[in-house]
Amino acid sequence: MIGNGLKPFPTLSDAGEEFPEIKMDFEMEEVNCPICEGSRGEPLHLEGSFQMVRCLSCQFVFLNPRPTSDSLFRFYQQYLPEEESSIESWQRMIEPVFKKAANLIQQYKEKGELLDVGSGFGFFLSEMKNRGWDVMGVEISQKAVAYGREVLGLTIHPGPMEKVSLPDNYFDAVTGFYVIEHLRYPMAFLGECYRVLKPGGFLLLRYPHTTPIKNLLQLLGIKNRLYDLPAHLSDFSPKMIQRCLERIGFRKCQHLIGGYTLPSDLGKRTASILFGGFSEALFCLSLKKILLPGVSKTIFAFKEGRA
Ligand SMILES: [Zn+2]
Repeated sequence: MIGNGLKPFPTLSDAGEEFPEIKMDFEMEEVNCPICEGSRGEPLHLEGSFQMVRCLSCQFVFLNPRPTSDSLFRFYQQYLPEEESSIESWQRMIEPVFKKAANLIQQYKEKGELLDVGSGFGFFLSEMKNRGWDVMGVEISQKAVAYGREVLGLTIHPGPMEKVSLPDNYFDAVTGFYVIEHLRYPMAFLGECYRVLKPGGFLLLRYPHTTPIKNLLQLLGIKNRLYDLPAHLSDFSPKMIQRCLERIGFRKCQHLIGGYTLPSDLGKRTASILFGGFSEALFCLSLKKILLPGVSKTIFAFKEGRA
């Protein structure tokens, strides 16, 4: 850790006039690269007071300094929507991505044991349960855990994952939708996923890739908060995520566009359909060669061994 200490951080009043102020004080810490431990980075983009840097050794893009573990835990207790109507509109938005992922999983295995890390309210677990899978979730938001348990009747452990004693070689599938970009130790997370998977089991991750769009918008002089800092701590490129998975031992990594979300706001919805549809079409027409930068991706990877 650079500077080996915690820094008090001011209220984020300079977050930018165009954007709502983030009403929380964060205690910040400077860190080395979460992937290669490199201590040298170059500033890449600013969002308010938050800075994304690029590691000079491995090119990983991450938030530095970043909120401490305690600050993040408090932040996540308010991260997901609470009102019933917001939860329902969130469900409608994410549903196409969940259905696509569920279909993909069933191409490899009809039924089995599934763990969803960062399971949120439990909608993906519910989808898989309805398809005959035995499902379990891990989630850091206490309100989301309560919703999944009480409203959907699911087994969800209050996370983080490393604090839940999960057995070795147990799950046929592990999934993580929009999780890895939130984690302080992404390599440890991938290692945990590998450990709990059966040989021949598979991991499905869904993640945003924002840096190419940030670069473009910067050229055009358009202010934005697309990195969603400090909720997101990093921005994986497809190449970087594959390299990390292979370093852990995962094999047969495959990328997919994997559908797109349907936000309730008409403008965002149209953009999502256009970009999502275009990137999906481009991916198919290029025989799975071209992954449009800047849209969310799904990666699928296998643990070695026979199922
Ligand atoms: Zn690095």
